[in-house]
Amino acid sequence: MARILIIGLAGDSGCQVAAIGLHEVLIDILVANELIYAPTLIDAKDIPDNIDVALIEGGIRNTHEVEVVKEIREKSGAVIAFGACAAFGCIPGLANFKDGKELMNLIYNDWRGTDKGIIPTHLETLPEQHPIKHFVKVDYFIPGCPPEVTDIAYMLTTLLNGEVPEYNKTQVCDDCPRERLGEYSTELKRLPEELDDPDRCLLEQGFFCMGPATMGGCGAPCTQSGTVCEGCRGSCLDVDDQGMAMIDAMTGLLTKIKDEFDPDLYSAMLYRFTYAESVLGEIARRNR
Ligand code: SF4
Ligand code: SF4
Ligand code: SF4
Repeated sequence: MARILIIGLAGDSGCQVAAIGLHEVLIDILVANELIYAPTLIDAKDIPDNIDVALIEGGIRNTHEVEVVKEIREKSGAVIAFGACAAFGCIPGLANFKDGKELMNLIYNDWRGTDKGIIPTHLETLPEQHPIKHFVKVDYFIPGCPPEVTDIAYMLTTLLNGEVPEYNKTQVCDDCPRERLGEYSTELKRLPEELDDPDRCLLEQGFFCMGPATMGGCGAPCTQSGTVCEGCRGSCLDVDDQGMAMIDAMTGLLTKIKDEFDPDLYSAMLYRFTYAESVLGEIARRNR
């Protein structure tokens, strides 16, 4: 019987809610193991000792979260970064385009509806949002925002059976049924009514689809329902930087729309889920 911890840091609990979708698998896991800490579900205060599997959702934005994640690491066998926030920074990582002080001023002084000048000081905020691997060794990660139920089930059942989980080695394009012809639009498009061919690859039609640079395994639900892949599963397994991989994959389109493409304007789309772990983010951090 394994002792399981699940905790949410700087995220929105969406990954924990996704885990409820495990249904019978969740019941099987909870019957065969012991959920020893899960503040979203049961009252809990101190981090317990002797944790076998720790699921950490959310990234890190303040010193308290750093202490918590280090304590969990010390007390745990396997640490899993649960979802895109914990694994790569996700949407909260886009805050790193601004310096931390600039951001606090923007939110608490300059934003409409906030009381001027009242910046909370009860937690020591870090200058940037971080994936948990910036502070502790992470053994495994579950990609996605939120993660696919099948990925959660696979990771937990594999680990709890004493086996080593493997990651998906494909890209979202491998799951996508849209037709690719190798010919590209001469303009960038954003609006649904600009879609010329309902069955054709969105990137080839000029839409910013992150499928070629994103880890597969989700079944491409977004492109199948008519919208682009935004890249929520992070980089493909053999790729270090999702945005750079996407620029590489966009070569065919970029040669057609190069005058229209401003990398500064598109950097938040290239790195919507991975800016906090990106090479670009690291360069910006060093130059601050
Ligand atoms: S990865 Fe997505 S669903 Fe999970 S906590 Fe972060 S924002 Fe929420
Ligand atoms: S780029 Fe997007 S639309 Fe085109 S095949 Fe890949 S996932 Fe599908
Ligand atoms: S298609 Fe892209 S954005 Fe949609 S779930 Fe899959 S990885 Fe995430």
